[in-house]
Amino acid sequence: MGEFDLIARYFTRPVRRAVLGVGDDCALLQPRAGMQLAVSSDMLVEGRHFFAGTNAYRLGHKALAVNLSDLAACGARPVAFTLALALPSVDEPWLQAFSSGLLALADAHGCELVGGDTTQGPLNICITVFGEVPAGQALLRSGARAGDDLYVSGQLGDARLALESLLGHLELPSAVLGPAQQRLEAPTPRVALGQALRGIASAALDVSDGLLGDLGHLLRASGVGACVDTSCTSALLAAQAQARLCGQPLKTELVRQCTLAGGDDYELLFTAAASQRPAVLAAAQASTTPITRIGTIEATTGLRLIDDQGQAITARYASFDHFA
Ligand code: ADP
Ligand code: MG
Repeated sequence: MGEFDLIARYFTRPVRRAVLGVGDDCALLQPRAGMQLAVSSDMLVEGRHFFAGTNAYRLGHKALAVNLSDLAACGARPVAFTLALALPSVDEPWLQAFSSGLLALADAHGCELVGGDTTQGPLNICITVFGEVPAGQALLRSGARAGDDLYVSGQLGDARLALESLLGHLELPSAVLGPAQQRLEAPTPRVALGQALRGIASAALDVSDGLLGDLGHLLRASGVGACVDTSCTSALLAAQAQARLCGQPLKTELVRQCTLAGGDDYELLFTAAASQRPAVLAAAQASTTPITRIGTIEATTGLRLIDDQGQAITARYASFDHFA
């Protein structure tokens, strides 16, 4: 099977909303009146972002999910994406599974594959997504103000816990590892929540490299500081409930490490004025997405952590950095 058969077989489908899809030199999209285009790229490299031999269906899902998460963080609605793919060889069962996982998530969000590039090389997946957001309404990192509440969606730290176990750094019962590994390999982009928060959240971003590191980006962009209550964040490690059931609760320090500096969470971290609490709750309900208030934005720059007694935590939690 050659390059063009491969594209035709696994990555070409009838166009729906696009003006022109796969097959010409460019795809054509028609933005709707009054809308701005939101554009973002994310690359997954074998051996760097995922293990060789990772389930191909989940890999297809994740490659798009991490991109949709960026659209969610801006409050944008997914429209289309392109796929640049380097493959070591044509492995049809792998391509079948990969494209199924990819296109199932694409269909779930009405996000159309409109083009890309395919080449031979070490396995590398780069997606660019295009979304739309009403002009001037995108959620940015820079809008947080002193006194705002700080929230995070969903769960935190399970992906990192699974990664540590898969790297052989700790042993987990399979009942704990299974769901955590699912979080690592098939994250849920919070697309509906992001759109529901337009006009309500003052700032937002998605948590991809670890909560505190990503929060740092939001604080710097907004020129503010924050206090985070770790008794709230520690409760967001879903694996802890399962570990307790197995009679092997995870240690406080491990829970903090995973939830505060885990990485690969793809949850939304956002701020909103205290007066917006009812609206924030309504947005969470309308998008059927759990959210938790984890702290407060402060005028003094810097990040403070407190424990369940309100005592300051001085330990440092470093987020992921490819070149650190
Ligand atoms: P060009 O030579 O103009 O760059 P290509 O020969 O690389 O175009 O690709 C042919 C068509 O197939 C183009 O429309 C391109 O967008 C599309 N395409 C290539 N690879 C992929 C892919 N992995 N997924 C979706 N579309 C792809
Ligand atoms: Mg061309």
